[in-house]
Amino acid sequence: ETKNTEKVISKTEQYGAQNYHPLPIVISKAEGVWVTDPEGNRYMDMLSAYSAVNQGHRHPKIIQALKDQADKVTLTSRAFHNDQLGDFYEKVSSLTKKDMVLPMNTGAEAVETAIKAVRRWAYDVKGVAENQAEVIVCEGNFHGRTMTAVSMSSDPDYQRGFGPMLPGIKVIPYGDLEALKAAITQNTAAFVLEPIQGEAGIVIPRDGFLKEALDVCKQENVLFVADEIQSGLGRSGKMFACDWEEIEPDMYILGKALGGGVMPISCVAANREILGVFNPGSHGSTFGGNPLACAVSVASVDVLVEENLVDRSLKLGEYFINELKKINNPAIKEVRGKGLFIGVELNEPARSYCERLKEQGLLCKETHENVIRFAPPLIISEEDLDWAIERIKNVLSV
Ligand code: PLP
Repeated sequence: ETKNTEKVISKTEQYGAQNYHPLPIVISKAEGVWVTDPEGNRYMDMLSAYSAVNQGHRHPKIIQALKDQADKVTLTSRAFHNDQLGDFYEKVSSLTKKDMVLPMNTGAEAVETAIKAVRRWAYDVKGVAENQAEVIVCEGNFHGRTMTAVSMSSDPDYQRGFGPMLPGIKVIPYGDLEALKAAITQNTAAFVLEPIQGEAGIVIPRDGFLKEALDVCKQENVLFVADEIQSGLGRSGKMFACDWEEIEPDMYILGKALGGGVMPISCVAANREILGVFNPGSHGSTFGGNPLACAVSVASVDVLVEENLVDRSLKLGEYFINELKKINNPAIKEVRGKGLFIGVELNEPARSYCERLKEQGLLCKETHENVIRFAPPLIISEEDLDWAIERIKNVLSV
């Protein structure tokens, strides 16, 4: 059966739960920053699967690692050792400078892992009374779609009809140090935040906030947990968005680009005093730490480092943001970003702009109604970026 866009979409809509509202485009092939639909139309990917494809689609080195490992062993479960997991641990440990790593598959699962870890740490290490542990999170956060993650959300749409929510969560305004201080009690296990909020629309806290918040947490014996699932691994122009303030969180949560857009793999990384709270049987996942994902992940991290994608993100990001700031349109409220993690906030809904950008050959997706997110793969060439900027100027200028 030959596939065309219309047939693919109608079959997808016929059988699938309607929990997404995609733009009407089907991607059947991809390479680097370019994707192709069944009719052969080419588009530039300016979303990078929500930053999971920082290394570009089907990076040859990552695909090679996938193929090589697929010919050896793909899954052992954790009932036995596999010969790739140790290499993955070592890679993530040296990247994060943390003693220990716990592997999962999706971002939300890594968030679950982080919450279990900090709660158990609160009881076993800090001495919080049983079932009293609290976690502080930020308004506008996005930590995923599992019950724990939606319980942390401040968005009623994410919670409606799914109650009861997980207790022990306090929400404070993002970037508000006084609110953080006021929210901390003797029962607080952790402050969990995205150092740059992605789904909220590329929201960047004021300079100094991360450092001051970490200091407060240190003083109060509260763990500082950075959800770098979207902001990490080069996206913001630093390896981690926390590096913008030269801080080391107590725990990193990583995912997305950790698997190079090829395999789902996520993890938390922290020192032994924290991750040491897990004992055999207290947590796990059948696919977590599988050799196929581990081999892909090691190659994915190597690509980021060997190809200097972090610096590339920083330099091209600055250039891109400056060009966007030149666009004259009263509907543009703000252009903001770090590295190739960029948001253009409008005074009106962004969707029609995204649709017009698609007509011009550029794929992006609005986030939170009024923000256009520009987050191309970090391997993007200057030439391709200029091609994109020209089209963005066409669509956004008045
Ligand atoms: N945390 C952050 C900051 C994210 O941006 C996302 C996904 O967008 C998640 C968690 C959830 O990851 P996943 O969709 O892989 O469960």
